[in-house]
Amino acid sequence: MINTVTGAGACPGCGASTASVRDAVPWCPRCEWNLDTYDPVRREREFGWTWVDRWTYRMAFRATGQQFTRLVGRPLGANGSSGARTLTAVASLVLVAAVLALAVTGVWLIVAFPFPNLAILPGVAMVGLAVALRPRFGRLDPELEVLSPDRAPELFALIGEVAAAIGAPVPDVVGVDDDINAYATVVGLRRRKVLGLGLPLWGSLTAGERVALLGHELGHFVNGDPRRGLLTQPAFTMLGSAADLFRPVRTSVGAGLVEMLGDAIGRAFQWMMSRALFVAYLLLVSVALRDSQRAEYLADELAAKAAGTTGATNVLDALLAGESLALAVRRETRAGHGPDRWRSALAEARAASADRLPLLRQLSVRDEASLFAAHPPTGLRRRMLAGRPWQDPAVVLTEARLERIDAELAREYERFRRTVSWSA
Ligand SMILES: [Zn+2]
Ligand SMILES: [Zn+2]
Repeated sequence: MINTVTGAGACPGCGASTASVRDAVPWCPRCEWNLDTYDPVRREREFGWTWVDRWTYRMAFRATGQQFTRLVGRPLGANGSSGARTLTAVASLVLVAAVLALAVTGVWLIVAFPFPNLAILPGVAMVGLAVALRPRFGRLDPELEVLSPDRAPELFALIGEVAAAIGAPVPDVVGVDDDINAYATVVGLRRRKVLGLGLPLWGSLTAGERVALLGHELGHFVNGDPRRGLLTQPAFTMLGSAADLFRPVRTSVGAGLVEMLGDAIGRAFQWMMSRALFVAYLLLVSVALRDSQRAEYLADELAAKAAGTTGATNVLDALLAGESLALAVRRETRAGHGPDRWRSALAEARAASADRLPLLRQLSVRDEASLFAAHPPTGLRRRMLAGRPWQDPAVVLTEARLERIDAELAREYERFRRTVSWSA
């Protein structure tokens, strides 16, 4: 689990002793020497080739740090980089136009010649491809248990207060699921706003942290996040499904030489298409995700506006303690306890590991740097908040109200308890 090593060596930069947690390659906690090192053993593979992973990691670490330096202490606008936004919107339009052209050509091939005709085959294939690649606007996650305002009036009232405090619209749909997570998204052509709260996370947070969590998530409705825009969202989903579609699969077994040759050529073409589309997807995502990180910093600032700087920074520390949170929830739930005991167990675990917290914050800057990360590293998000003017809470959730909210969700907590008890 978490092991802290101090005095593993002296920092060549400043002479302080280096440190490590979670078996990470040691770095200097004082001057952050070696924090930027690529940690191949602990790091998840992104491309599969170590040299590419190392190179893209370095790029991501540098870009993330540069963006932090550019934004820290400055006002975070809701419009962000117009370059990234324009590029994503143009890519979306080009993709939609290409799929439309594919569909129109397909239909034309089907109807243009007298039946029967061989042109029907490519025609049908093209229409099929266009349908598979159509732009998608997302839909409601079937795992989400949707809540109604009359079943959870206190929760909806709190959501309304937080939304008013930060100038965000209230969500059209509010629901809970079993993840240690929370999200705000927009689904369908009607752009319905959805707020999803993971019960284990929601139940484990203190009052101030809950307000901050709501502030951050509702902040996503007003921070100009490119992943949620009508014009920019198709670029994210279409290129991804296109690359998936062209991934070669072995179809013929024991066929003749000609079939095998045709199959090999077909597969080579598919392989090239899938790689080319995948690279295009990566390029676009890595540009657009810079803008998405700017939007995350802004959502954190809105969280601070609602919950105060203390609540907003505490919720980030709670996310860093994710491992302890999962353990505490699991253990207490199996013992038949509800969210009040999750909170006290997590508070104990956090108090016991308080001295490791600064190291975990630093390590997150290494661990969470990625070209594909929509969120900036938790440690940097915390530093960004600390570098901004101090904010007092605009919405205060009292203990009594917090308990009323948990009581409203008793049925959902109970179902969660049964799921955890049944799972191995
Ligand atoms: Zn040092
Ligand atoms: Zn966010």
